[in-house]
Amino acid sequence: MDILNDKIRKANKPHKCDWCGCEIAKGEEYRDTTLVNDGIYQWKSHLKCDYIFNKLNMDSYDDADGVNADTYREYVREYIQDELNMEEAEAIICDGSEIEVAYTLLKREEATK
Ligand SMILES: [Zn+2]
Repeated sequence: MDILNDKIRKANKPHKCDWCGCEIAKGEEYRDTTLVNDGIYQWKSHLKCDYIFNKLNMDSYDDADGVNADTYREYVREYIQDELNMEEAEAIICDGSEIEVAYTLLKREEATK
């Protein structure tokens, strides 16, 4: 897999994050990557999602299919389940805020290092 283009851009219209599937709001900074892997495709992501991906070393989890949006969420959930107790983790996963929480936990961890 080759990276043709990798930029931090400011959204001039709303986009969809290819990791979490949520909206990248107009005016928000996001990462725009163009990859070659059996064809050319574009990958857009929140800086937050990109941060989580890198912090959790998801590129090292890579299996034959690579990490996609589904496995991304799965890894985020696993991380939360490792970090928090079962009840807390389940409540977070139920209300869909796992990306937000994982980001906060990782940032806190980074700050205490
Ligand atoms: Zn995202």
